[in-house]
Amino acid sequence: MSQVWTVTSFYRFVNVEASRLPTLQSTMKEWMTAHDVLGLVLFAPEGANGTVAGSSDGVASFKEFLFELLGTTEIRFKDSESDRPPFRRISVDLREEIVGLKRPDIHPDSTENFHLSPAEWHAALSDESPKLLIDTRNRYETRAGMFKGAIDPDINIFSEWGTYLDQADLPKDLPVYMYCTGGIRCEKALIEMKSRGFDEVYQLRDGILGYLEEYPDGLYEGECYVFDQRVAVDSHLRPTQIYGTCPGCGLTAKEQRVCERCGKTFTVCEDCSPAWGPGCSKDCRYVLKQRAKKSTLS
Ligand SMILES: [Zn+2]
Ligand SMILES: [Zn+2]
Repeated sequence: MSQVWTVTSFYRFVNVEASRLPTLQSTMKEWMTAHDVLGLVLFAPEGANGTVAGSSDGVASFKEFLFELLGTTEIRFKDSESDRPPFRRISVDLREEIVGLKRPDIHPDSTENFHLSPAEWHAALSDESPKLLIDTRNRYETRAGMFKGAIDPDINIFSEWGTYLDQADLPKDLPVYMYCTGGIRCEKALIEMKSRGFDEVYQLRDGILGYLEEYPDGLYEGECYVFDQRVAVDSHLRPTQIYGTCPGCGLTAKEQRVCERCGKTFTVCEDCSPAWGPGCSKDCRYVLKQRAKKSTLS
């Protein structure tokens, strides 16, 4: 029987006493285990961040549980559905930050008015006036899709954002519109920009996932990379039919090949493509290489 998984992503910046973190971790782990909700949840002194999946009832009670645990109902959720399990297990981790900019000293306030709703964002981008539109995600994410006309900083990891800003020489007199998957990275990326003298900076509230909920055929082009087994979702938030994970480097890949050893279809990325060959995994690749060696010897 096939199951439909309800998936939800969230984050909340809220001060958490460091001494409370281990209790939050164990309570959350027990709750998720008891309710068959799988996924990844992070807690840090600055708040919580995560994506989880389960039955629709399970995810609904997860939200109630999270409200109770963090002592606030002001948590925004981005929901989608998947016909494949998005997670294999439960991970509840404690970190320095809930998003890895390596700046635990920055404290975003998600209620400030530079958060644009999908409708405000759509209107601002549809207007032709000069602006900087910047994607704050990593290279392996922007590969799968971006807003039309956006600048791709081409970073490997979010902690490179500050260095990117120092080197990019972006004009400071234009309004800046920035976005990421669900909004959390922009919360910190925006403060970094403001501290460098960019005065007018906006971020897309709830990120690409929030935008696609309202504008599936809007200004976003391609698919949206997600941090679970789905790899990416299409503009209607359905699991991708195009992208997979490259067996060479673990990143987003779309070139399909059939493994000459086991017959499985797999995807290889453009960087690994020339050298990777016809094996779907490191194992299959090894076996195929050995076979090739033997046949040239005989
Ligand atoms: Zn690769
Ligand atoms: Zn194989």
